[in-house]
Amino acid sequence: MIDYQAILNTINSQAATSSDRGDVASYIPELSKIDKNKFGIHLINAEKLEFSSGDFQEVFSIQSISKVLSLSLAFSLIGDELWSRVDVEPSGDPFNHLSLLELENGIPRNPLINAGAIVVADVLLSNLKNPKEDFLNYVRKITNDTSINFDLTITDSEKKTGFRNIAAANLLKSYNNLQNDVDTVLDFYFHQCAIQMNCQQLTKAFFMFMNGGKCMQEQTYLTTSQIKRINALMLTCGFYDEAGEFAFEVGLPGKSGVGGGIVALLPNKFCVATWSPGLNKKGNSKLGMEALEKLTTATGQSIF
Ligand code: GLN
Repeated sequence: MIDYQAILNTINSQAATSSDRGDVASYIPELSKIDKNKFGIHLINAEKLEFSSGDFQEVFSIQSISKVLSLSLAFSLIGDELWSRVDVEPSGDPFNHLSLLELENGIPRNPLINAGAIVVADVLLSNLKNPKEDFLNYVRKITNDTSINFDLTITDSEKKTGFRNIAAANLLKSYNNLQNDVDTVLDFYFHQCAIQMNCQQLTKAFFMFMNGGKCMQEQTYLTTSQIKRINALMLTCGFYDEAGEFAFEVGLPGKSGVGGGIVALLPNKFCVATWSPGLNKKGNSKLGMEALEKLTTATGQSIF
């Protein structure tokens, strides 16, 4: 039996003494106020046993981690039709890059870069009755936690400075790849990114990606084939132009956010979430990546 608890304790104490923690995201002004000394990690295994260390119960802004959840809901609503609006190739570009969008006639490279997630937001707006409320309820349901909410201070903060996302949405609209108006799509997108969760809630939300589409309550949300596709997208696109490095160091499908969170999973084995707000140059949590490298190295468990 692997002693996950001992491994997480070691990872947490090593993180506590780390002097190079990266930099907190400042392009969303509210995020720059977060204390970069925080560190939390939580792991749930397939038997639903939980292990944790550090600030694993403190909520933070999940940011781009939300893109996997919006993708899942959109995929379950419209199926493979989704792939006519967004591609499934890694971009090798930063999350907010626009050059490939122009080159590829308004079809974003994948649903986990900003442009792709904005198209997914548009799909949800066209297919849900009360889009923001319905999406939040979906996240609450798969996590089995009604306390999850939007942090509206973060939504407003990003709205004021989200110039590249505004540009991406306008470019998509010019290529007829948005059905709803630009402001409505961005309002939804800025809300989804501003959902607050902690490491423990994130591992529960992502349990279904580890468990063939069945959530913690054994309810099925996605088919095994859809889960295979979403996990493949996390592996190849979840860390933008650092997806190769994450696969190389950690060897798990996962997703990061500029709030400093990372969720990763090993199908049928475990789901793990880390939070450390300092980011590396590519916008992924510095200590989070290091922690996950230590976890898969110490346990010998990765998809490879
Ligand atoms: N809301 C952020 C943005 O659109 C999400 C980016 C991220 O977490 N990588 O810029």
